[in-house]
Amino acid sequence: MKIKPADNILSIKPYPPGKPVEEVEREYGIAGSIKLASNENPLGPSPKAVAAIEKALSNLHRYPDASGYYLTSKLASRLGVRPDQVVLGNGSDDVIGMLARVYLQPGDTAVMTSPSFLMYEIFVRTVGASPVMVPLNGLTVDLAAMAEAVMETTKMIFITNPNNPTGGHITAAQFEAFMARIPSHVVVVLDEAYIEFASDLDCLDGLKVLSDDRPIAVLRTFSKAYGLAGIRIGYGMMPSEMAAMLHRVRQPFNTNSLAQAAAAAALDDEEFLRETRELIRSELKFLQDELTKMGIRWFPTQANFFLIDVKQSARDVFESLLRQGVIVRSMVSYGYPEYIRVTVGTHAENARFLEALERVLKNREKANA
Ligand SMILES: *Cc1c(COP(=O)(O)O)cnc(C)c1O
Repeated sequence: MKIKPADNILSIKPYPPGKPVEEVEREYGIAGSIKLASNENPLGPSPKAVAAIEKALSNLHRYPDASGYYLTSKLASRLGVRPDQVVLGNGSDDVIGMLARVYLQPGDTAVMTSPSFLMYEIFVRTVGASPVMVPLNGLTVDLAAMAEAVMETTKMIFITNPNNPTGGHITAAQFEAFMARIPSHVVVVLDEAYIEFASDLDCLDGLKVLSDDRPIAVLRTFSKAYGLAGIRIGYGMMPSEMAAMLHRVRQPFNTNSLAQAAAAAALDDEEFLRETRELIRSELKFLQDELTKMGIRWFPTQANFFLIDVKQSARDVFESLLRQGVIVRSMVSYGYPEYIRVTVGTHAENARFLEALERVLKNREKANA
């Protein structure tokens, strides 16, 4: 064919396609596998959200409410912001895309950590801008180096807190010291996809730095703590002046009617959120205590996942775990050839993961002896 995509589109590495669990099971001849790979909620979706979806089904012939009126109002009153500071998205991914379309143009740069959430780079390149990657300092987001990396062309900075895939966090004091070095025309995107899991009182809370006078956009999602990853709903909070610009490029029906109903109901499901947080905290302790007993090194986290140092090829350990029906994430492509990332599951899932890991590491020890 004679057609040719734009150069910036050719510069995008496609998002690594995962296979459905059912396909993986067929391929490996296994059944009843458990997925601890995508930081999803092990308790399933919020039951109140499911009930709200069932109720909303009979209205599927209608277009969704383009303004997301009820969900936006509810979010605003829950979080203590104004409705004109909120932008709903088809997942918080969608809000990242809107920020890039509004504030970046060809030739601009956006500073982000390496590794970081793949969607930042994809959306930045989509609008013809370029990412500037700042390596982590060990497993810590290096805010000083990120401030240092800001150039004339820099229009946006992405910070993930708690960070994915490392699970670490930044404090309010660290953030303010960083902001003091950032020129006032740069948009700072604070991605808080895992903030509901954070337990350290020191952890920066984006709501506390949100202001109509600073170009800070705080992103949150219903995909993780509320168990609604499949229906796609997230939101951004930012100065109303910025939100108004995002609404210009937002597709009017970007959030569907079931997602709006589900998210509004999930916000009322305080019991589910509490149960989720308690499960993650107690199971993290269980996993980490057991790993310590096994002599395996792990890294502290403020999220619902954490890194484990398997001290050998993470790809091989990932493969062997998969054969046992336990799906985790190898960190090879993130630059950690001997680390795996594990999402906290139910107690039974976590126990099964530990057993499988112990078996895998023992077998590999024997094979190498
Ligand atoms: C999971 C995740 C999100 C959330 O994405 P959604 O589009 O809301 O599902 C955003 N940022 C990071 C870093 C994540 O890990």
